[in-house]
Amino acid sequence: MKDQKDYKIETKAVQSGYTPSNGQPRVLPIYQSTTYKYDSSDYLGELFDLKVDGHMYSRISNPTVSAVEERISDMEGGVGALCTSSGQAATFISVFNITSCGQNIIASTTIYGGSTNLLAFTMKRMGIEVRFATPDMTDEQIEALIDDKTRLIFGETIANPVLKVFDIERYANLAHRHGIPLIVDNTFATPVLCRPFEFGADIVIHSTTKYMDGHASVVGGVIVDSGNFDWAANGRYPELSTPDESYHGIVYTESFGKKAYITKARTQLMRDLGMTPAPIASYILNLGLESLPLRIVRHSENALAVARYLESSDKVAWVNYPGLESSPDRDLVKKYLPNGQSGVISFGVKGGRDAAVKFMDSLRLAQIVVHVADARTSVLHPASTTHRQLTDEQLVDAGVSPDLIRMSIGIENVDDIIADIEQALIKSQK
Ligand SMILES: *Cc1c(COP(=O)(O)O)cnc(C)c1O
Repeated sequence: MKDQKDYKIETKAVQSGYTPSNGQPRVLPIYQSTTYKYDSSDYLGELFDLKVDGHMYSRISNPTVSAVEERISDMEGGVGALCTSSGQAATFISVFNITSCGQNIIASTTIYGGSTNLLAFTMKRMGIEVRFATPDMTDEQIEALIDDKTRLIFGETIANPVLKVFDIERYANLAHRHGIPLIVDNTFATPVLCRPFEFGADIVIHSTTKYMDGHASVVGGVIVDSGNFDWAANGRYPELSTPDESYHGIVYTESFGKKAYITKARTQLMRDLGMTPAPIASYILNLGLESLPLRIVRHSENALAVARYLESSDKVAWVNYPGLESSPDRDLVKKYLPNGQSGVISFGVKGGRDAAVKFMDSLRLAQIVVHVADARTSVLHPASTTHRQLTDEQLVDAGVSPDLIRMSIGIENVDDIIADIEQALIKSQK
């Protein structure tokens, strides 16, 4: 019989993380309990010393949450995972786990706006500096940003919303030459379309709010550890390779080996910061994961068909979708995303801001929402909503053109989606 770790991803999505024994519930139960019971104080003592596996308190771990962590870790090919209350919490903990005041990190400019805010403004107030690398920089230019206080490189597989594909292997090699890890936000790709560990990434994070849940039902995040980075190799990460005062002197690399990073994230940062998902949130996420391999393929097929339709329309000024033959990221797509490029497209309607607003207001099936990546087709015009206070010139500086429409293509029948877009495009030009 095959071991769980050898299953293909479609099998892991429904089988990993929870295997009931004789007479137990077939479906992962919601353990709505903050608290756990022990036969002896000695056992609880060993649990506190992290000598045995088990649950102490649901801020730190819970059986429902743990099952989902194991499932996602298996799907990414990691050694362990930590679920968080949001994607933002996952980004924060993944960086803060190995970065302190006075140190710096390198981040790609093509990352989610919320990540940019967190890294460039909020973490700056903690004394952590972010140095941004643009996709067109040479290796030498990026290496010039790295010094002995640089802790990690951070990038995003398919950037939300600019849809730029990140050259994972290139950045992994660059990071490893300098003894630092690569963290990749894999939210849009999901482990079904791309598994960054296979290209050298060390840590993967997700906003599970997007395709993993997939139904716009529950906010959440996750951090997955590949177990591949050697934190003790060069003494650069003493927080992992020397005693932790806050945990009576435990040395994570010695006690937990390949799971050092993810264990510290849980037992130290989750303990102290409490960005914990509720068991019901993990239960809902778990249901989403079961159909993720089916959904993300349909999202990708539909998005490619819509992108091709838009490209052929005389009412559309430009289309950006990594799966298009015209995409500047064609080679990166072949390498990292050969089986689909996810469901988000951006494009411009001819006639600028006014035509874009007319288009938006004429859609019937596609609904205006701020969210992306759920089963229903949705749409956002940043210039008239999230970025409405900006002038046209300021918008261009922010990388958002006045005519830019971001569309998250759902899993409806693609003919219905295209028919809706077609009638709205006609109205946009009147
Ligand atoms: C939405 C998103 C986040 C933030 O996640 P939340 O669950 O909204 O906190 C982070 N990264 C990417 C790529 C996202 O799309």
